[in-house]
Amino acid sequence: MTTTENLKYIQNQLPAKVKLVAVSKTKSNDQILEAFRAGQRLFGENKVQEMTAKWHELPKEIEWHYIGHLQTNKVKYIAPFVALIHSVDSFKLLSAINKEADKCGRIIPVLLEFHIAEEESKFGLTMDMADQILSMPEIKSLYNITISGVMGMATFTNELSVIRSEFEHLYQIYQALKNKYFQSSDQFCEISMGMSDDYPIALEAGSTIVRIGSKIFGSR
Ligand SMILES: *Cc1c(COP(=O)(O)O)cnc(C)c1O
Repeated sequence: MTTTENLKYIQNQLPAKVKLVAVSKTKSNDQILEAFRAGQRLFGENKVQEMTAKWHELPKEIEWHYIGHLQTNKVKYIAPFVALIHSVDSFKLLSAINKEADKCGRIIPVLLEFHIAEEESKFGLTMDMADQILSMPEIKSLYNITISGVMGMATFTNELSVIRSEFEHLYQIYQALKNKYFQSSDQFCEISMGMSDDYPIALEAGSTIVRIGSKIFGSR
């Protein structure tokens, strides 16, 4: 199957309101352009340097989504153009994004990344950590970011019931935060979950953004 055929196949399974981020990390400009010509506009990258180079070289209609771990000292390189940062897991990073967005005269949308998998990981918030961040008075003065929702990755396993319960957990986290901190914000509306091997389960659990790489471009 070609990239174009893969995209059509996946798009056909997505409800109209669900967005598809084509994860193009390690893929060439030519491969990205094939997807672009097939109508794809949202692309996801997990390295600052790679995303910045591709932004320079590829059509400006592309919306670049940052999905990897982000160091505060690298925010400045992507702040001028990034469409959504999926992977924010500290107040320090929120504050750095706010500062760089301000310098660019932008408001940058971000998602809070949660650790929902069984695997050990240095990245991702717990509910307690999120509560701590969102109840800080300083959060109200971050005028140049919009907290637009949550993101998470399920355990890498064949046990579908484990994946399902992790995605359902992220959905519950989203609802709890919405009720507690974002009741009056229509902008807190995104749940970024689902990759090549688990996106059908993520869709059933209420995903609004799926991040799919190998099912579109082939294995890396
Ligand atoms: C690589 C990556 C994806 C896409 O993975 P595939 O299995 O190739 O679809 C999605 N989300 C994140 C955070 C990634 O790093």
